[in-house]
Amino acid sequence: MLLSRTSVLALVASAGLAVLSACGASDTPAQQPAPVEEPEVQAETAEEEHTEDADAHEGETEAEDHDHDHDHEASGAGVAHVHGVGDLALSWEGSKLTGELISPLANFGLSEAEGVISDAVLAELPGLVMITGGNCVAEPPVAKVDKSSGHTDAHVDLAWNCAAPSGVSSVTFSGFTAFSSFERVNAIYLTDAVQKAGELSPSSPSLSLK
Ligand SMILES: [Zn+2]
Repeated sequence: MLLSRTSVLALVASAGLAVLSACGASDTPAQQPAPVEEPEVQAETAEEEHTEDADAHEGETEAEDHDHDHDHEASGAGVAHVHGVGDLALSWEGSKLTGELISPLANFGLSEAEGVISDAVLAELPGLVMITGGNCVAEPPVAKVDKSSGHTDAHVDLAWNCAAPSGVSSVTFSGFTAFSSFERVNAIYLTDAVQKAGELSPSSPSLSLK
């Protein structure tokens, strides 16, 4: 956010208002209402700046081997919107283990423009995250769409009622099979006594909670 604001300011300073219309509100086309007499130079400048900007994003994307068509800095919420990556946080409320998965909607094979979680995806959510040990019974997951970051993320609330909480030994992200766009899930587990974090992947989908 800071970066892009700075660069927009810099561009405005160096190239004039034409750039503002090119790099400002995303819905604004890079055309300008100026008369046809003299804007040739100005228009070229705007086009150049815009192209450079797009190239920079593309390079960043390719370097990370992700399939992106928009920028993906987190806007202060603490979780970056990066296609292929999800974040899973687990903690206890008494004998209930709770979890929240935050993921770009695209990881579920869904359109972020439409922002709708399909019935087919909803049907897969109960198998998304599995807990081993503890005699836990899962509650039905609750999923919602969050566009507050400027991107479209899915928030999936998870909960397990565990008869033997101390017996819980690991968590597994099982969604790599159903949703092949997931490349990794950053998992954290926080209790009063234990803090665990791990990067889950299709070849290593589990995190020990012991
Ligand atoms: Zn996205």
